[in-house]
Amino acid sequence: MKKKDQSIKRISAAESNSRRAFLKNGAALTAIAASGSLFGASPVSSANAKVKSVENMMHGMQIGAVSFVDEGVEKVLDILQKRGAINTIFLTTFTHGRGLAGRQIPGEKFPDHGSQESDVKTFHGGNYATPHMEFYQNTTIKVPHAPDLGDIDIVAAVLTAAKKRGMKVFCSVEDQWNSDVPGVKDCYEVDLYGRRAKTVCLYNPNVRAFWTALVTDLCKSYDIDGILLFNEHNGPLLNALGASHTQAIDYSGTTCFCEHHQRAAKEHGINFERAKEGFLMLDKFVKAALKDQRPSDGYYVEFERLMLNYPEIVAWDKLFDLAKHQVLEEVYAAVKAVNKNLQVGFHIEHVNSFNPYFRATRNYEDLAAKADFIKVVAYNNCGGERYAQFIRNIGSTVFRDVPLEELMRFNNHLLNYGNEASLDKLATAGLSADYVFRETQRALAGVKGKCKILPGIDIGIPTKATSRKGSPEDAYAATLAAYKAGADGVIISRKYSEMNLDAIDAAGKAIREGVRLKG
Ligand SMILES: [Zn+2]
Repeated sequence: MKKKDQSIKRISAAESNSRRAFLKNGAALTAIAASGSLFGASPVSSANAKVKSVENMMHGMQIGAVSFVDEGVEKVLDILQKRGAINTIFLTTFTHGRGLAGRQIPGEKFPDHGSQESDVKTFHGGNYATPHMEFYQNTTIKVPHAPDLGDIDIVAAVLTAAKKRGMKVFCSVEDQWNSDVPGVKDCYEVDLYGRRAKTVCLYNPNVRAFWTALVTDLCKSYDIDGILLFNEHNGPLLNALGASHTQAIDYSGTTCFCEHHQRAAKEHGINFERAKEGFLMLDKFVKAALKDQRPSDGYYVEFERLMLNYPEIVAWDKLFDLAKHQVLEEVYAAVKAVNKNLQVGFHIEHVNSFNPYFRATRNYEDLAAKADFIKVVAYNNCGGERYAQFIRNIGSTVFRDVPLEELMRFNNHLLNYGNEASLDKLATAGLSADYVFRETQRALAGVKGKCKILPGIDIGIPTKATSRKGSPEDAYAATLAAYKAGADGVIISRKYSEMNLDAIDAAGKAIREGVRLKG
């Protein structure tokens, strides 16, 4: 029944979009003409159908408030539109993290534009729009206006100028917190040993109410095109094993065992005590592995035995994912309740590329029911060092008996990675543009046309000094690979304040070629 309702909603949204597209064609043509025949062909002679397809594609750029403040709104929009062929701004509106907001991260070379002064001491994060507190009555989390850039309301500042150019504006909101946010500490997760973590619990009613309040506020207060939600917070099994690329193995810090999780477990018939006991055993297993204390039957067998003896471990992990997906559903519903034509997208984090177990928990077709578009992270340059780190992490616990190079080759087969560099060269080689192509095609096949796929393209994402630094040629190849695979657009990531202008030019060239492919 739900599926049927969704498809009805989708058809009416599509019809309505095409009406909007028709009305906007005049403005779009003017914008294309003004930008010097952006897509190569004479705009006036373009068939209406082609303009419509161009209109529906989203060539996006992630960008934080500081770039507009440092460089000026019109100047930045000019660069994005004319050099990068960008038609959609993913404007970082809510976060306390530096991945999406702030200038270049400390220790990295500044790009060839914007301020060259580190903001490490002044960066804070928060809501870069104006919070309208009447929307936040059902949550104890009260996020004030971000203090680091003065009083500027970045959505208001960018929206009018972007609309005049025919550019779409989405607010990016991210589950990243600062401990000084009023009300947030009471919502922190609780780890295996009863300590408060620094991540918020997705079963906490105040957290749930915050996300719907935030997106409702943004969608009602501004004439934006929609929301892109980021939540890279992951479940207890992945964290217990460190089966990711970004983290150290955080066994004993595994979350969440708070009262709200216990309540949710009860509702789903999961035994809290058994789950906790299972994770304590897993913790013991990981600690022993890191000390090189091999179980008599080997690491993998011991791990499997734990999974068989404590099915509650997997159940607890699924419980986490359930909450994360409920947040997606609630955000989607809240946005559509404001205006069904607004679009909602979700960022699917990079571990989805590396970890087959995580991949099994992310069914693209299911996700498509909760989204108008999915941003699938396919960062290839930094992907090399990240993938190598993932292999080293799982190779230090569950697969400790397997030589790392063999482990990576095996994993490549599982994930259809093709012929990427060997483990010792992976960080310096990066992953190929072909990886972007394959991940895009996999996502398109997965969603079966039920939502758009916008691969996240790596331009200038920081890597270690010895790892690959992306060139303009890399930016061009990765961007074009996404379009060749049939993507509905791209989202250039992580943020404009990390990117060199020649790489933005290169992405722009690929976008123009990609549009021609689609046309
Ligand atoms: Zn919890």
